[in-house]
Amino acid sequence: MKKWEENIRRVVPYTPGEQPKVPGMIKLNTNENPYPPAPGVRRALQEMEEEGFRLYPDPACSSLIEALSERYQRPREQFFVGVGSDDVLAMAFLTFFNSGRPILFPDITYSFYPVWAELFGIPYERPALDEEFWIVKEDYVRENGGIIFPNPNAPTGLYMELEDVEEILGNNPDVVVIVDEAYVDFAGPSALELVDRYENLLVVQTFSKSRSMAGMRIGFAVGNPCLIKYLNDVKYSFNSYTMSQAALELGAAAVRDEAYFQDKVKRLVATRERTKKELRALGFRFPDSGANFIFASHESCPAKEIFEALRERRIYVRYFDAPRLRDYLRITIGTDEQMDTLLKALKEITSEKG
Ligand code: PMP
Repeated sequence: MKKWEENIRRVVPYTPGEQPKVPGMIKLNTNENPYPPAPGVRRALQEMEEEGFRLYPDPACSSLIEALSERYQRPREQFFVGVGSDDVLAMAFLTFFNSGRPILFPDITYSFYPVWAELFGIPYERPALDEEFWIVKEDYVRENGGIIFPNPNAPTGLYMELEDVEEILGNNPDVVVIVDEAYVDFAGPSALELVDRYENLLVVQTFSKSRSMAGMRIGFAVGNPCLIKYLNDVKYSFNSYTMSQAALELGAAAVRDEAYFQDKVKRLVATRERTKKELRALGFRFPDSGANFIFASHESCPAKEIFEALRERRIYVRYFDAPRLRDYLRITIGTDEQMDTLLKALKEITSEKG
């Protein structure tokens, strides 16, 4: 190693899902939404004024925060927005997990958490999910420097009832607890309703899944104004202009179309439930997902072989070559037509190889 290399911060980065550009492909590998964003989003893009490109954006992100505040009926001071929930979560790690004591998150969960912990030098422990992939809430009753988990969890899709989330909060009044709700709109009630009662709770959501805007990179956090102020202090110490003016205006347009949002979420949930039935009939088993994906394993056919055979047919799903995960495929819910093509391919593959 060269002398100058010795002082370099070396990290093992997170590996994002593949973004192949193959004509005619069916892309079910990174939990994007198959439907376009609300029609108002395109209109807002067309109507963007020249100033929106020429000038710096509003550092306080007021237009988007205003729209979120109206939609969720909460004061603006409870909102923080960022460049996808990844940005919001990274800022939250940096801001809130600063005690020197280990933070806690599940052994099987969003694989960015250990990467941020390593990057920021935060010690961590990873309580194991049970045999059925459930978070064991009793494991979160011990000395710690903060807690984070997704609800629904990833890549399992399992949604924890709010009373269990509340129990974890009740047992941890002295640290910040982050609930990462990237997929909650497809599942059940959000922990947002607990924010007024637990001042140490930060709820994080994204526009990437239920609002079809992964490409615009918009995420947000909701918490009591004191938490939000600390987050903003760190943000302004890092980069004042995290969100482009386009992201702010297009995001606000998406939030304002509630009917479209409800309609598309309902449709995806219906497709998910139908897909579950058909996968079961083909010999797959899976945790009962509340997200826009299903984490499925076949009774006789190895996941890696199915993954590769699907790829040959230009159907992309996600495969994790890791302990406890390598028997499973994570399949994003697409349109009904895409699911039909997938199911037909799975039928052929599993009868050939099974
Ligand atoms: N949290 C979880 C659990 C996720 O699966 C994802 C998607 N990769 C994210 C956060 C980040 O999503 P985004 O940055 O697109 O908001």
